[in-house]
Amino acid sequence: MSYRFFTNKECEYYPCHDFERINCLFCFCPLYCLAECGGTFKLLENGRKDCSKCILPHTENGYDYIINKLQHTN
Ligand code: SF4
Repeated sequence: MSYRFFTNKECEYYPCHDFERINCLFCFCPLYCLAECGGTFKLLENGRKDCSKCILPHTENGYDYIINKLQHTN
């Protein structure tokens, strides 16, 4: 466990995605408001993102990816 990665198996939604070693740090993705987030979202008719198939924030390198994206977004 570190500030970059932790898994909360006590969460009532765990496992929220179907893969091993889920990083729970960014349970709510900080990139949700970005149109160019780099994730695999589906745009719904109401203009919202469906991020249910995206695992980007939950991967081993999710922390680094998101911090880097936030630092380089105007
Ligand atoms: S969860 Fe994935 S698709 Fe949704 S905002 Fe974050 S990076 Fe983009």
